[in-house]
Amino acid sequence: MNKPSANTLPGRVDVLIVGAGAAGLMCAATAGRRGRSVLVLDRANKVGKKILMSGGGRCNFTNLYTAPENFYSRNPHFCKSALARYTQWDFIALVEQYGIPYHEKTLGQLFCDNKSKDIVDLLLAECRAARAQVRTRCEIESVAARDGGGYRLQTSLGAVECESLVIASGGLSIPTMGATGFGYDIARQFGLDIVPTRAALVPFTQHKDELEQQQDLPGSALAVTASCDEGAFNEQMLFTHRGLSGPAVLQISSHWREGRMVAFDLAPGTDLPEWLKQQRTEKPDTHLHSVLADIWSKKLVRFFLQKHGIESRPLKQYGEKALMEIGEKLQTWKLVPSGTEGYRTAEVTLGGVDTDNISSRTMECKSRPGLYFIGEVLDVTGWLGGYNFQWAWASGHAAGEAV
Ligand SMILES: Cc1cc2nc3c(=O)[nH]c(=O)nc-3n(C[C@H](O)[C@H](O)[C@H](O)COP(=O)(O)OP(=O)(O)OC[C@H]3O[C@@H](n4cnc5c(N)ncnc54)[C@H](O)[C@@H]3O)c2cc1C
Repeated sequence: MNKPSANTLPGRVDVLIVGAGAAGLMCAATAGRRGRSVLVLDRANKVGKKILMSGGGRCNFTNLYTAPENFYSRNPHFCKSALARYTQWDFIALVEQYGIPYHEKTLGQLFCDNKSKDIVDLLLAECRAARAQVRTRCEIESVAARDGGGYRLQTSLGAVECESLVIASGGLSIPTMGATGFGYDIARQFGLDIVPTRAALVPFTQHKDELEQQQDLPGSALAVTASCDEGAFNEQMLFTHRGLSGPAVLQISSHWREGRMVAFDLAPGTDLPEWLKQQRTEKPDTHLHSVLADIWSKKLVRFFLQKHGIESRPLKQYGEKALMEIGEKLQTWKLVPSGTEGYRTAEVTLGGVDTDNISSRTMECKSRPGLYFIGEVLDVTGWLGGYNFQWAWASGHAAGEAV
């Protein structure tokens, strides 16, 4: 008898998961530990590519302060159940169980001390312990519901049938890492709605003339409060060759829509007009640009003064009204970005499979028994700072308990 080739798939499994990323691997380990036979299929050449590239190579794997308020969704209540049943503390306990060293960087963001690979290795070890099989380089060619229940998939490695089908294929960001719209296509095939998708946690681009004025600034960073509509984030902003980036900009990009204005408070926590008045009393002979250098780098001071056509003179030469006006102008920078860098560099996709169709307890599709959606493919998107992985762990766990 011929030996089955290494690539042959089992003809039938209890649970088939498409996508060996954060959510898919968590779901596989959870379901496998319940005694379910589990197969995870991924088209990429290796698992967890986004985990590997996340957090600058150190994976910001969760956030100490994760709460439903840190997520965007058409239904802001949807994420509550899963987040409450698999919390940041559960994932931290798992990380500690594997002896993975980690630290809090800022704002509750937990990063690996060493490499993101520690998290991928943890997930693969969990899958092994749960006897869940993982196959890479597998293209899904078609998905069909079976008459008697369950699903049948035709793949580049053969056909496979399953009782439960879990879609964990992620969002559209970074197509060069293998992101596809597969999950949305499956949702549409089974008559589910999609909340329109857009690139989020993404740098802004600016108009050519603005970039020319900012040509000395790429690499310069400063603390700001970035606001747009009801969103406001107090973090660093970074000038780039294409426009603006840094955590404050990535965060506010989730609130921004084409043509809208973004406001930056360039000296958060300081009343700049009052501060300048005080400086004038204390250092009347000091030039404006010199006192401003206490707040911003010299390059930034030059840029902000030039931008508003403000001449730098000794402070005593400004009247109170003039100084107040200068302070007000310098404090706030309003601009309309020309766009964003799009999915090419976005960390996440806003929107996705409409959660109205999905049970918030099990992630199962209400109208299609046995079909589940987890992770980023759903219309649940976290802030920057480890929240997106926490959603992947929590939704993957919720489905893993139910499939
Ligand atoms: C550069 C970058 C840095 C990030 N840093 C962080 C961070 O530090 N902290 C944080 O919380 N979040 C971070 N994120 C976001 C985070 O990576 C995602 O939200 C998270 O990976 C989503 O998990 P997922 O399992 O839903 O999808 P993914 O992890 O994207 O996994 C989806 C899997 O499905 C596979 N797949 C796709 N299409 C198909 C198909 N047609 N057939 C078979 N398989 C398919 C993919 O190959 C992939 O392995 C970052 C994202 C990026 C791009």
